[in-house]
Amino acid sequence: MVFELFKQLFKRPATNKFPAKYTPANVTAVVEKALRGEITLHPPIPVPPQYRGKLVYDKEKCNGCGLCTRVCAAAAVVLVGEKKAKKIVHYVARCTFCAQCVDACPQGALRTSEEFALADTNKFSDRLVVK
Ligand code: SF4
Ligand code: SF4
Repeated sequence: MVFELFKQLFKRPATNKFPAKYTPANVTAVVEKALRGEITLHPPIPVPPQYRGKLVYDKEKCNGCGLCTRVCAAAAVVLVGEKKAKKIVHYVARCTFCAQCVDACPQGALRTSEEFALADTNKFSDRLVVK
């Protein structure tokens, strides 16, 4: 156990540092300061290869076949529109990022991205819906 303890002391942290130097009392105030350029945030650590982040949807490639909706166990993909004009809407808040829909799409209209900072106070926010 002592050996393991010493080993951990000299290992690089596996997680990202908190974005600001000191934990602030108010996170919103820190974000606002960062947006004004008054403080610098720690950059995020790079994501691993083939990371399954927020989906990217290419509407032009989509033929509205609906295969992605059939494989999605979370019902996070919904077909909208009429007949051949059918397109999908992706509800990020419901998504488990399994990428089954990406594998199932015959048109290559869906792919995963490196975007992981998806927390939002409003689950109906436009930012969390991919059309
Ligand atoms: S990644 Fe998985 S949970 Fe998310 S929309 Fe695709 S199939 Fe559904
Ligand atoms: S599987 Fe691909 S082509 Fe078919 S509806 Fe979904 S995104 Fe569009």
